[in-house]
Amino acid sequence: MRVVFLGTSGAVPTSRRALPAVALVYNGQIVLFDCGEGTQRQLILAGFKLTRVRHVLISHLHADHVLGLPGLVISRGFIGGREPLDVYGPPGLAEFLRSTIRRVAMEVEYLLRIHETRGGVLWEGEDFQLIAEPLQHRTFCLGFAFVERGRPGRFDAERAKELGLTPGPVFGELKRGGSATLPDGRVVHGEELLGPPIPGRKIAYVVDTVPCPGAESLAQDADLLIFDSTLAAGEEEDAGHYGHATAKQALEIAAKAHARRLVLFHSSPRYEDPTELLAGLPATGIEVIVPEDFQAIEIPRRSSKDRG
Ligand SMILES: [Zn+2]
Ligand SMILES: [Zn+2]
Repeated sequence: MRVVFLGTSGAVPTSRRALPAVALVYNGQIVLFDCGEGTQRQLILAGFKLTRVRHVLISHLHADHVLGLPGLVISRGFIGGREPLDVYGPPGLAEFLRSTIRRVAMEVEYLLRIHETRGGVLWEGEDFQLIAEPLQHRTFCLGFAFVERGRPGRFDAERAKELGLTPGPVFGELKRGGSATLPDGRVVHGEELLGPPIPGRKIAYVVDTVPCPGAESLAQDADLLIFDSTLAAGEEEDAGHYGHATAKQALEIAAKAHARRLVLFHSSPRYEDPTELLAGLPATGIEVIVPEDFQAIEIPRRSSKDRG
């Protein structure tokens, strides 16, 4: 699992940074968080085919987060994408997208599903879930989390053999949590032979917002928390006035929620070098990252020792 930052600037792009868009690459597919203007080109420059984008999550209908979406949807069809595309976002998203596509006289030749939501479970797949929670911004805004399903613990094949079972289909059955009959007639259940379950990974995308309960709940136990850090520590009043957070507030939420790594994201174009946002942050033990556009972060698998 890899997270690639396609655009990291807030409000307007800069010479080095594009508007918000983050690609989460999982099993060859892309889950895209926000789609600022120019995102389709950022995807191509990052080496991705547009057809790999399978889910797009739009936080809110401010220009910097959504203007890249019509172009991406249209180009995806142009280059032969025929797989369905699911787009999720706040009420008003369908009208924006459909009317823009109609206005530029385009037709989309694949199944485009637009899901307007105010929060909850957006997608339930075999491997992961996508969830949304309302945030607090100047307009209705959603934060998102990608939640990977946990996996069963390690199967104790040695123990199974000692019990008199032979490797084969019966091992598979036990690994899936089923049961098997031993030579002496006793029944053994899968869970007796499985180690503690291995928790799945969680990526949270919480942009644009002031600190709020929705943000905290999405951040809880995240492997990677991508958080609104429009302004630097000390600028809380100004940030709050515009419905944004500071790097310090982002770190406070990350610490409270036991997030493992924090990404300071959507920084104001006033910071020529966004690593300025690191100034004045207390040491918390949490790794804090200020990504450049196109930077990729690997998300390692958890082990059974990790908390869920
Ligand atoms: Zn924004
Ligand atoms: Zn906004």
